[in-house]
Amino acid sequence: MEYFSRLLKELKDKKQFSFHPKCKKLGITHLSFADDLLLFAKGDKQSVTMLKQCFEVFSAASGLQANLSKSSVCFGGVTDTEQEDILQQLDYIRGRIQLIKAVLFGIQSYWSQMFLIPTKVIKTIEAYCRSFMWLGTNEITKRALISWERVCRPKSAGGLNIINLKQWNKAAILKLQWDLASKNDRLWIKWVHMYYIKGQPILSIKEPKQASWMVQKILTIKGPNLQNRNQGSKGSIIRQIYLHQLGILDKVEWKAVMFNNLARPKAIFSMWLIIQERMLTADRLSKWNMNVDTTCVFCKCQPEHHHHLFYNCSIVMELWYDIFKWLQIPVPATTWNQLLCWFMGKAKKKTTEGQLMRMVLAETVYSIWVERNHRVFEKMYRDRQSIVREIIYICNIRAVGKLKDVLQYKHEKGTRVCTRAWIRGKKQQSKGVLCNGEIALEIALFFFINFLSLVISPFPNPKPQPPPPIAADEITPTGSISIFRLSQ
Ligand SMILES: [Zn+2]
Repeated sequence: MEYFSRLLKELKDKKQFSFHPKCKKLGITHLSFADDLLLFAKGDKQSVTMLKQCFEVFSAASGLQANLSKSSVCFGGVTDTEQEDILQQLDYIRGRIQLIKAVLFGIQSYWSQMFLIPTKVIKTIEAYCRSFMWLGTNEITKRALISWERVCRPKSAGGLNIINLKQWNKAAILKLQWDLASKNDRLWIKWVHMYYIKGQPILSIKEPKQASWMVQKILTIKGPNLQNRNQGSKGSIIRQIYLHQLGILDKVEWKAVMFNNLARPKAIFSMWLIIQERMLTADRLSKWNMNVDTTCVFCKCQPEHHHHLFYNCSIVMELWYDIFKWLQIPVPATTWNQLLCWFMGKAKKKTTEGQLMRMVLAETVYSIWVERNHRVFEKMYRDRQSIVREIIYICNIRAVGKLKDVLQYKHEKGTRVCTRAWIRGKKQQSKGVLCNGEIALEIALFFFINFLSLVISPFPNPKPQPPPPIAADEITPTGSISIFRLSQ
């Protein structure tokens, strides 16, 4: 920590760094207590970035990493847009799904393991979580694009792996029953045996009327026979029972694109909806007799439906062409289904290529949806190049490890190819006749362009350039945008 303190002390001499307003006079940048660390800075992106860079240097030297799931960022007097900017800079994304998982996990890890939670309470908790997920509010609503039952399925079965609270609670109570049958070294178990079980086999015991409601439920709940459980199974006993209760669910073909995806959580969430064709596209709304313009907002000639919007539209297809050009891959599909099949095939690979394809699919379809919403609701248009540049920028900053190197190499290779093509063009212009002076000039230009491309790189690795400003609506989870707007 002394090394880290020294690194932070150097910040004091840097003009770009601004102290937290209440820490400036004493020059406080951090406080540490045992393994807890508090960092302070003014709520601007530059100061926070400098703090982060110091921590990264310390992290690389010491091997100590910050656990983001146990960390939090507190803001005071910082606008929402700036907050999102800073959080993105810190890779600290406040996702609704993560919050819901944290809340449900908190409930199941404590109360669920001790009490049988009444069905009404479970339904109310789930209704709040469901409403928060779809609309970001704490008012209970029944509006949802996908059923809660499906949301709670494992990712391999097309869900988001959110805990089904009722099934988890039942699994936790079955674990208590198993404890009663197999363990006798705990005081409460000895007590229940002494007064209620009295030597009877637990699986066929009659409901002891004089026992409390909770003990009656533990003794009479029915579930899988845990004596026959596979000892080698992974996870806790509760998790094993939980998965057993969910049964064997059909796996979805597109599961590979959902796992280990480095894209932003909101992009993954949108991709999850888009693959299942649950976005509120104009054709779906018109089927519900809603008065909407059904013409595609990109090409303005074809009707908007799912496959058209995300791939077959001539304008969107040009965007995909640019993405594949960046990836240096020939366009692999002519229809949306073919495209999805191609991505699924690539995403199965446990290579950097698989990692890249999963992220590119999520970020691209999400960008298309965001642009569509901007055009429909805000009448704001961005050109194709800006959208593509932003997708590439995001993929670059979210890439980690080997993938980061691959993207950098891809960029440098692309630059070299472009430069060579440019020189070839110049040679053809001079009809293949170059004097020594001209060759020297071309070589000098070649190096100059390569150098210039690194300095003003549109692919911001290792020093990213800021992307075009993102509108406030873009940072709200996509599933909710249309629902909210249509209700106005
Ligand atoms: Zn179109």
